[in-house]
Amino acid sequence: MNGRPVMLIADNASTNRMVLKTIFSDQFNILESGDGAEVLSVIKHNPDIDVIILDVYMPKISGLDILRFIKSDSLLCHIPVIINSPFYDLEKTSLELGAADYIIRPYNPQTAKTRIMSALTKAALERTNLELELQNASQSFSVLSNAIPGGIAMFEITDDNISIVFYNDAFCSLSGRSAEEFAQEVGDEILDLISPDDRQRLLDYVRRIISEGGSTIQSVFRFLHRSGVYRWVKISACMYRNEKDYKLFIAVFIDITDEKEYERKLRHQADFDMLTDIYNRTAFCEKTCQLLHDNPDQKYALVFCDVDRFKVINDLFGSSTGDMVLINIAEILRESVTGYGTYGRLEADHFAFCIPKEYISGTDVSRYIKKCTEGLSINYKISFSFGIYEIDDIDLPVEKMCDRASLAIHGIKNNCVKKIEYYNKELRRVILDEQKIAAEMETALRDKQFVVYYQPVISVSDQSITAAEALIRWDHPKKGILGPGTFIPAFEKNGFVTKLDKYVWENVCIYLEQRMKAGEKTVPVSVNMSRVNVYDSDLCSFIIDLVHKYNIDPSQIRFEITESVFTENQEQLLNTVTTLRSYGFLILMDDFGSGYSSLNSLKDIPVDVLKIDRSFIIDIDTSDRALSVLKSVVYLARQLGIPVVAEGIETRSQFDHIRKLGCSNIQGFYFSKPLPNEEFNRYVDEHS
Ligand code: C2E
Ligand code: MG
Ligand code: MG
Repeated sequence: MNGRPVMLIADNASTNRMVLKTIFSDQFNILESGDGAEVLSVIKHNPDIDVIILDVYMPKISGLDILRFIKSDSLLCHIPVIINSPFYDLEKTSLELGAADYIIRPYNPQTAKTRIMSALTKAALERTNLELELQNASQSFSVLSNAIPGGIAMFEITDDNISIVFYNDAFCSLSGRSAEEFAQEVGDEILDLISPDDRQRLLDYVRRIISEGGSTIQSVFRFLHRSGVYRWVKISACMYRNEKDYKLFIAVFIDITDEKEYERKLRHQADFDMLTDIYNRTAFCEKTCQLLHDNPDQKYALVFCDVDRFKVINDLFGSSTGDMVLINIAEILRESVTGYGTYGRLEADHFAFCIPKEYISGTDVSRYIKKCTEGLSINYKISFSFGIYEIDDIDLPVEKMCDRASLAIHGIKNNCVKKIEYYNKELRRVILDEQKIAAEMETALRDKQFVVYYQPVISVSDQSITAAEALIRWDHPKKGILGPGTFIPAFEKNGFVTKLDKYVWENVCIYLEQRMKAGEKTVPVSVNMSRVNVYDSDLCSFIIDLVHKYNIDPSQIRFEITESVFTENQEQLLNTVTTLRSYGFLILMDDFGSGYSSLNSLKDIPVDVLKIDRSFIIDIDTSDRALSVLKSVVYLARQLGIPVVAEGIETRSQFDHIRKLGCSNIQGFYFSKPLPNEEFNRYVDEHS
C-alpha cells in the first residue's frame, strides 16, 4: 500500500459507500463492505484498519452489534468507529457503546472530514499513551503532535487557576495565530479567548467533573479568532493527575464552525419556507400553538389568506412573477404581524397569520392587499380572499384551526365583492353539498343530463323574436330539473364551469346547424361565458374551430360576460373581447347594475349590447327613484351608442315603462320563460 491510513466503509447501500468514497479517497486507502457478516471478516483480515465508518442499519448483523464486537475485542478496540445513520435516534447508544462519533446522512463533506480527522487524532493520542510524554513536554511529542491535524493542548488546573502547559501549532491556528504570535499575544490569558457567553459554563463543567471524580470532558464553546469573530470549537479532554496531584487536562480541539453553520442551515430549512423565508406550515403551527398557550387570556383569530386565481398570474406573467408576488406577501406579513403574532406560508399561495382578535379590521386587510402589488410592474389586479377563524379553544390543533379558516374562504372564493368570511358551522353543510355536486358532475355531462333551454329576446316595437339566450338546466335523475343557481356557483369554484360552458356552446351550434339544414328559421343565440373562461388563452381558437365545424356564421353566436369581470383585469378581458369581435361575434355585458361596474369601463372595453339586470326593473312599478335610475342608465348607454336589453320583465306595466324609456329589446317571463328545445322552436316559428 502507499502508506496512507486505511478506512473501512461498511454500508449496505452502494450509493452511500460511493458518497463516502468520493469524500475520503484522496486521503485514505478505502476498503468496502456491504454486509454485516462480511464486515467482521474484513476487519479480521485487515488488522491495519485505521478507522471504520459503520452504517447503523446493516443486514444480518446490525451496526450496533458490530460495534459491540469491535469494542470488546482487545486487538480491535483501539480502532475508532464512526457510526453513520439517517437519524439521530441511536446517537446516545452508539456513543455509550464506544463509537468515536456519530454522523448523520446526508453528509456535508467538510463536516464529515473534520469529524473523521478528529476521531483519528483522538485515537492516535490514546494509543501512544501520550500523557507521560506530555508531562515531560518532550521534543518528540511536540513533533508528533504538530503532525496531527487537530489542536492539542494540556492544562494544569489548581483550585484557583487554570494554566496552559503545552499546545501545538494547530491549537494556535484555531485563534488565527502562529505559535510565536500565540505566545506573545495570548500566553496564559487563554480564558480571555473563550466567549463570555460560554466561559462560566465551561469552567463550572470542568470543576464539576473534577469534584465528581470524572475523567473525560466533551463540550463546545466559542473561541475568539484573531480576525475578531468567534469560531465554534469542540473540545474532547481527558484528565490525569500528576505526582503533585495537579489536575492535568489533555484536550483535543476541533474547529466545528462549518459544521455548526451547516446545522444551523438545516434547522432553518426545516422551519422556514425556502422561497419566502417565513415559517412553513409545520413551524407556523408550532409557534402559533406556543403563542396561544403563552397568552391564554388574550383572544386570538387565525386568518387564512388565499390569492384569487393565482394560477392565472403564473400563466400570464411567468412563475418568477408569481414568486415575486408571494415574496411580497411574505414581506408584508413580516412588516405587519411581527410583534403581534405569528405568520407563515402554508403552501403554494396560501398564507396564514394569527393575531389578537381586536386587530382584525377590514381596512387593514385592504391596505395589505394594495401593498402586495406595489412595486410589481404587472398590469393585473391581484385580489385576495381571507377566511377567519376566531379561536375559542386553544387546545384545538392549529392544523385544524387552519382548516376551519380555509373552509370559511371556500364560501367566498372568486367572489369579487365579498373578500372576508368568518368560519361558522353552517359552512360545513354548504361544502358537503358542493362536494356531492362535484362527485356527480362528470357522469352527468357524459350522460347528457345537462340540457340547454332557450329564452326568447323580444323586440319592443313589434314583439317579434330577435334573439335568444341559451340557459343551462340539469335534468337530475333523482332531483328533477335543477336551475343553474344550484350548481353553477359550485362549478365556478371547482373549475368545471369551463367544460360546461363549452358543452353549451357546442350544443347551441348543433342546434343552429340542424335548424338551418332543415331550412327552418333561426335567431342569433347568446351564450354565457364564465369568468374563468375569459382568462383562458386558448379560448378564442376553441370558439373559431367550433363555428367552423358546424358551419355557423359568427354573427349567430353572442357571448354574455357578466359585469363584474369588467372591473377585474381589463387587459385580459380586452384581449378576449377584441379578438372575438374581430371574427364577427357580438359581446354583451350581462347583469349590468348588479354589482359595482362603472359605466367608465364601457368606454375602455367595447361591448355591443348592455343587458340591464333584473334588479333595476323589479321596483320600477313602485319606486320613482328606481325608475329615474333606470332612465339615466338607458340614457347613458344611448350616449355611448350601445343598445340595451332589459332583463326580467314580468308585468305589463314594466313592459310599458321600458317601452317609454326607449329600450329596444327585452327578455322576461312576461313574454316567455326559458323553453326546452321543441317548445322554443314553436315559439320561433310563431313569433318571427
Ligand atoms: P343570466 O345570464 O343573467 O340569465 C338570465 C336569468 O334571468 C335566467 O335565469 C332567466 O331565467 C332569468 N329571467 C329571465 N327573465 C326573467 C323574469 O322575468 N323574471 C325572473 N324572475 N327571472 C327571469 P337562470 O336560467 O336561472 O340562470 C341564472 C344564471 O345562471 C344566468 O343569469 C347565468 O349567469 C347563469 N347561467 C345560466 N346558464 C349558464 C351557462 O350555460 N353558463 C354559465 N357560465 N352560466 C350560466
Ligand atoms: Mg346571461
Ligand atoms: Mg343577465
